[in-house]
Amino acid sequence: MTTNINTDFDVKIIREEFPALKLNVHDKPLVYLDNAATTQKPLSVIETITNYYNFQNSNIHRGVHYLSQLATNEYELARTKIKKFINAASEKEIIFVRGATEAVNLVAATYGRKNIRENDEIIISAMEHHSNIVPWQILCEEKHAKLKVIPMNDNGELIIEDFEKLITEKTKFISVVHISNSLGTVNPVKEIIATAHKYNIPVLIDGAQAIHHTEVDVKDLDCDFYAFSGHKIYGPTGTGVLYGKEKFLEEMPPYMGGGDMIASVTFEKTTYNELPHKFEAGTPHVAGGIGLGAAIDFVNRIGVSNIARHEKILMNYITQKLSEFKELHVIGTAANKSGVYSFTLDGIHPHDIGTILDSEGIAIRTGHHCTQPVMKRFGIPATARVSFAVYNTTEEIDILAEGIKKAIEVFS
Ligand code: PMP
Repeated sequence: MTTNINTDFDVKIIREEFPALKLNVHDKPLVYLDNAATTQKPLSVIETITNYYNFQNSNIHRGVHYLSQLATNEYELARTKIKKFINAASEKEIIFVRGATEAVNLVAATYGRKNIRENDEIIISAMEHHSNIVPWQILCEEKHAKLKVIPMNDNGELIIEDFEKLITEKTKFISVVHISNSLGTVNPVKEIIATAHKYNIPVLIDGAQAIHHTEVDVKDLDCDFYAFSGHKIYGPTGTGVLYGKEKFLEEMPPYMGGGDMIASVTFEKTTYNELPHKFEAGTPHVAGGIGLGAAIDFVNRIGVSNIARHEKILMNYITQKLSEFKELHVIGTAANKSGVYSFTLDGIHPHDIGTILDSEGIAIRTGHHCTQPVMKRFGIPATARVSFAVYNTTEEIDILAEGIKKAIEVFS
């Protein structure tokens, strides 16, 4: 069930690095196509975490003893790897968080609370994940500000001509997804950022679905904030990154109070630690951060552009392969698409598609994918979503096609 599909790496060898891909599910070899929810983890990440708990476990940033210094060095080394990976200017701009959700909430609760006032406007897009809608809604409710939405067309592409028209002198923040998790659309974020900056409006990019599918260079994008989750880039759950330009992070108030984020504490007044620690209260997910560093090493070893090329081949293959089903409708037909293939089948609820595929050992995601407004826009309750990672193969897509055929037969 492995193949090398004309990419610069051998998928067969890469699959060997992922223990979960050897699983049988319902007596069938697992076909894991739910990578937008979370990716499987390579041995290098799993072993890094085990090694940490076996030989490095200690609390960081505060101990003078050997283990504490070792763990601190490993954790900070991971931060440096992330800094290089996204081409940030300094480690001060890399804040460890629990995931993209926490990153967006952090910015809304700190930058947002400080700078958004009554009647101000925040712009998001029609294809945001709930985690890039709800934090802004909470802020708007609190501040009596307004949330505006960049519309999208029937292909699931943002209508960029309408975006600039939404900007007024009251627009104070823009937050847009890089790649949609329910449609796969790759948004022209560099263009959106350049337009926003003409009006001096800061921009956050939700990169949860982009970081492992496309090269992200925060300097080149010139984004003010960039958020992503570790578990979608072959790293541990409960890890993630908020990148922020130093000038913004310096001026933002802290998010949570506690240990490590302070310089000094008296009952009268607390002063805060320097960046990035000002935003990292309490004992962090040390093993997770170090594991995320190992995940970055894994991705660098293969190369993001090679991964992207491989996934493009898979996307072209699935688009062509599943076009044989006249009952199948692709949801999200943007010209620039990555990683995600969403569809519906006439007369079959996506949940039933998922259940039948599961009985064949095939894991896909069904539902609204935490993007209920996208479902509403397309007038559907849910989709079935196939999402790719570096280890997927065209043979797996063939098995998926057989599963879909079975679902159609069962329900016809
Ligand atoms: N944004 C997008 C586009 C996502 O796909 C996801 C996860 N599905 C998130 C944000 C939230 O990520 P997490 O749950 O890891 O915080």
